[in-house]
Amino acid sequence: MNKDKIVVALGGNALGNSAEEQKELVKQTAVPIVDLIEAGHQVILAHGNGPQVGMINNAFSAGVTPGMPFPECGAMSQGYIGYHLQNAIREELRNRGLEHPVATIVTQVVVDENDPAFNDPSKPIGAFLSKEEADEVAKEKGYTMKEDAGRGYRRVVPSPKPIDVAELDTIKTLVDAGQIVITVGGGGIPVVVKDNRLEGVAAVIDKDFASGVLAEKLDADFLIILTAVEKAAINFGKENEKWLGDISVDEMEDYIKEGHFAKGSMLEKVEACVKFAKSKPGSKALITSLEKAKDGIDGKTGTRISL
Ligand code: ADP
Ligand code: MG
Repeated sequence: MNKDKIVVALGGNALGNSAEEQKELVKQTAVPIVDLIEAGHQVILAHGNGPQVGMINNAFSAGVTPGMPFPECGAMSQGYIGYHLQNAIREELRNRGLEHPVATIVTQVVVDENDPAFNDPSKPIGAFLSKEEADEVAKEKGYTMKEDAGRGYRRVVPSPKPIDVAELDTIKTLVDAGQIVITVGGGGIPVVVKDNRLEGVAAVIDKDFASGVLAEKLDADFLIILTAVEKAAINFGKENEKWLGDISVDEMEDYIKEGHFAKGSMLEKVEACVKFAKSKPGSKALITSLEKAKDGIDGKTGTRISL
């Protein structure tokens, strides 16, 4: 038994926008994941949490209960997303007569407190407020508030780069034992190291970058980013749009420089893939849709990036 290790990052389309929607949707999400497990791959699962952590944060901002710091909101989102995912995967495995244990790890991801992102908070979180409300919140809580595309003012937090996964040894142990682990949810709870203490910071780590770092640290063979599109494209949405298949790191880096990938959606995926593919010889990265995960691994579709 020397299974190849695959870190799979699930996008927003795998989870939906409410707890009820999510509970239904994960049943479908579990199918392609279990296809990979059944095909003999060792799967490590990561996922986003944008809408979910936003919901939790808003609920605690309503003033009915004491406020909830943002890192704690992230921890809550990992918990309930993991709860749904681990049960859906467990059920799908059992439906096929497979018995791998599945568990979610509350995962902290270490960031550098000197990361330049802390000087330029850019990720909007939480409710839309009027200018007056926003000024009040900024004064009262010290939050940075920014106007968001004509829709009102929102709190913004920094998006620092992930450096390390605090629970890595635990994850490794479970993975080596052939267990299915759900980890770095929402990019992980961002923490900075203060001597023996890990201190949560109000920030959002990009889940594609965090998944890439996890894949590197686990010495994985494959990083798979599953999203709403089957492939990444150059000239996306234009008349001369071209979907990318097998592609080298060098070629992809040129396309990144030429500005083909939108920041906040495809750019982070492509960058995470390039970084992982460069990390060691033989590392491969794939961007494809949830439905096409297995075909992508088998080389039939998706955008596949390697050295
Ligand atoms: P996820 O929740 O999976 O991270 P995102 O919405 O953040 O999903 O990113 C995926 C989206 O990026 C696609 O659905 C597509 O609309 C958009 N996108 C932007 N640029 C490109 C591109 N060059 N090629 C393909 N898709 C792109
Ligand atoms: Mg995204």
